[in-house]
Amino acid sequence: MQVTVVGAGIAGVACARALVDAGVTVRVLERSHVCGGRMATKRYDGRRADIGAGYLTVSSPRFAAVVGRWRDAGLARPWTSTMAVHSPSGWSTTTGPERWAAPGGLRSLVEDLAAGLDLRTGHAAEWVDPGPRVDGVPADAVVLAMPGPQAVRLVHPGLNRTARAALNRAWLSSLVATLAFDRRGWDFAGAFVNEHPVLTTVFDDGSRRGDDAPVLVAHTTTEFADQFVADAAAAAEDVESAVRELLDLPAALSVNVHRWTFARPAEPGHAPFHYGPERVGIAGDAWGTPKVETAWLSGTLLAEAILADLA
Ligand SMILES: Cc1cc2nc3c(=O)[nH]c(=O)nc-3n(C[C@H](O)[C@H](O)[C@H](O)COP(=O)(O)OP(=O)(O)OC[C@H]3O[C@@H](n4cnc5c(N)ncnc54)[C@H](O)[C@@H]3O)c2cc1C
Repeated sequence: MQVTVVGAGIAGVACARALVDAGVTVRVLERSHVCGGRMATKRYDGRRADIGAGYLTVSSPRFAAVVGRWRDAGLARPWTSTMAVHSPSGWSTTTGPERWAAPGGLRSLVEDLAAGLDLRTGHAAEWVDPGPRVDGVPADAVVLAMPGPQAVRLVHPGLNRTARAALNRAWLSSLVATLAFDRRGWDFAGAFVNEHPVLTTVFDDGSRRGDDAPVLVAHTTTEFADQFVADAAAAAEDVESAVRELLDLPAALSVNVHRWTFARPAEPGHAPFHYGPERVGIAGDAWGTPKVETAWLSGTLLAEAILADLA
């Protein structure tokens, strides 16, 4: 059996991992030069910062087993359950689920899951037809594991209506700014920023990664991000001003901005994945509450559906 997985974010890699562990031959195509997708870690001034997902949370026993293995291997660690909250009336704190971080950056977790897979980076798939075939190469099944607007460009119009409706749902953008300072001038692990025109969250990346570097990572509202479609770097000054004003900080030493055009779906999905009679499956975080755990579960459950179908 041969399956082609397109997209090496956590959903695609989880799907490929489960298929390979069951004895299926899988090739994973990833258009970027690295795997991880939105579990993204980027090097600025010689230090890695998490510029996609801020952390991960765990609720299902199956995902807990995976995260437990990462913890035992020193790849993931519980980070914080307490977040600061800023609203127009001032500061408070909120306690929620344990949030997990990765000393090597969240991408390192996807890399770990991808170890030993036939992963072809720098390979953008262009066309999936009902063969199913990817760019003319036949497979017994094909998996698309990426945001709907990216997947819909690839698929043949014959793909069934349910899948098309899911793929055509709206997605929201965000900018993520990494700000380096000369020293640490804040006392929270992360802060939710409510009703702010620019910011939604600010994370202490030094505390998150465990090296205590004086680095903050700030996420912006979609409305703000949409003003900088052509040039994300042009937002640096406004984001820095917003962070400095919020936290009463001196000027940053550097500000780097990354734009996510498809940061998250506007509405959570209801089914855990799509798998149709044409043997094209679709997985990702849009198939539930958009977060890392949902994407892992979506890819894993899709793999099980494919195994049952091809058996
Ligand atoms: C700013 C931000 C903050 C977030 N914060 C959190 C958080 O705190 N906690 C949390 O749990 N989640 C968070 N998330 C969500 C989390 O990152 C996602 O739920 C998860 O990483 C989605 O994984 P995925 O595999 O479904 O998709 P993706 O990670 O988007 O992976 C899709 C992959 O497909 C590839 N691809 C696309 N088109 C093609 C093609 N044609 N050919 C080949 N490859 C292709 C892409 O390059 C990408 O690698 C955040 C996301 C963002 C953007």
